[in-house]
Amino acid sequence: MGKTLFEKIWTDHQVAELEGDTCLLYIDRVFLHERTGSIALQSLEAAGRKVRNPQQVFCTMDHIVDTLPGRSDRTRVPGGEAFIQTTRSASHSAGIKLFDIGDPGQGIVHVISPEQGIVQPGCTLVCPDSHTCSQGALGALAWGIGSSEAEHALATGTLRVNRPRTLRVDFEGRLPPGVGAKDMILHLIAAHSTAGGAGFAIEFAGAAVRELEIEARLTLCNMAVEFSAFTGLVAPDRKAFDYLRGRPYAPRGRAWEQALAYWRTLRSDDDARFDRIIRIDCAAIAPTVSWGTSPQQASAVSAQVPSPAAAADAAAAKSIERALAYMGLEPGRRLTDIPIDAAFIGSCTNSRLSDLRAAARVLRGRRVAAGVKAICVPGSSQVKAAAEAEGLDRVFIEAGFEWRESGCSMCFYAGGESFGRRQRVISSTNRNFESRQGPETRTHLASPVTVAASAVAGRIADVREFLR
Ligand code: SF4
Repeated sequence: MGKTLFEKIWTDHQVAELEGDTCLLYIDRVFLHERTGSIALQSLEAAGRKVRNPQQVFCTMDHIVDTLPGRSDRTRVPGGEAFIQTTRSASHSAGIKLFDIGDPGQGIVHVISPEQGIVQPGCTLVCPDSHTCSQGALGALAWGIGSSEAEHALATGTLRVNRPRTLRVDFEGRLPPGVGAKDMILHLIAAHSTAGGAGFAIEFAGAAVRELEIEARLTLCNMAVEFSAFTGLVAPDRKAFDYLRGRPYAPRGRAWEQALAYWRTLRSDDDARFDRIIRIDCAAIAPTVSWGTSPQQASAVSAQVPSPAAAADAAAAKSIERALAYMGLEPGRRLTDIPIDAAFIGSCTNSRLSDLRAAARVLRGRRVAAGVKAICVPGSSQVKAAAEAEGLDRVFIEAGFEWRESGCSMCFYAGGESFGRRQRVISSTNRNFESRQGPETRTHLASPVTVAASAVAGRIADVREFLR
């Protein structure tokens, strides 16, 4: 019987079979950031251990660095400066590459790893951050770990991992206009719940996935963890190879040819068996927006806020009731009638150049509605520079957006900056949990184009009206 893509990468990295479904896997890359990575590095040093393969370990400053222009080590996070400086000294003494503040390669870990060619097809990559699954878009096995696992991976170059089951999600057909990768993943999670991918490594497949450019595949895989999956990945193809060619850490010359020969084998065999298959008809996907406090509480933008009375069972009704109370919404209200206080474009989900280009197409010649605070945070310093080189910063600024330095920023509150209490934010991020973007903030997840359209409309908007 053939093998799935996941099984091929797993087998190639298996050092030993341990008890049950647990294996010891070889880890090709470890990526750290200043929030959790610094803890792992310090703990390793305190234990008198060394980083085993420093040339395979990378670190960035993204989570708590300020994103306002003219930033320095100072942040709004209590103790943040110490985190940043400790990360810097620990990275230097460990001999690992740090994408520091001011480095042209700095940015959000899941944006810069592909951008630098650090993640590659067939490799295993771990990072103490849940959205590491994003990087599966290049055909890698990438997943989030805890700080103590990071310490183990740093010291030994291996990790004990429980083998997940395999799930293939086929996105069949073509995406309608105004619909993109963010809508695909929100649609999937809304249809199958946030628990739908629990225990699985997901291979995203089908005609619509093959059509997606690499940056959009990164968006798709980014939210596999919101589906409770171990990871998500896409079989590498010519688009992936072309994307990687010439990037700073991609192989060169003869090594490139050898890598390419291996990468071309990285696809699920025709007779491979998946433990589960989900099929999604892309014609049924609309621009999708969350209305509640979980990514599964999302609907087509043309829908109404649901009623707890229509829920499948009492537990679901209670969950909707609680979400609506937090979000300050009542059943039956049209999503497009909900006014917003703020709009945020950024995060490892949707802050790449293609996201900014798409949002700028909506914003060009338009203004953000009065009273709406709008912020754009490019995902990396390279994305920011490339966007500025083609004038996208002017489009955002002239429309009324703040234009920031790269980092996680207000994707989450740990950056120290927040939207106000009970402020309603339409956001291109991946989590809409209570107080995710600040105490009592109300987050609606959406694609960057829907965020841009909503910023202009001053309410949740259907971007298709802006594309006509
Ligand atoms: S952008 Fe948000 S989700 Fe992504 S790594 Fe940063 S804090 Fe986490």
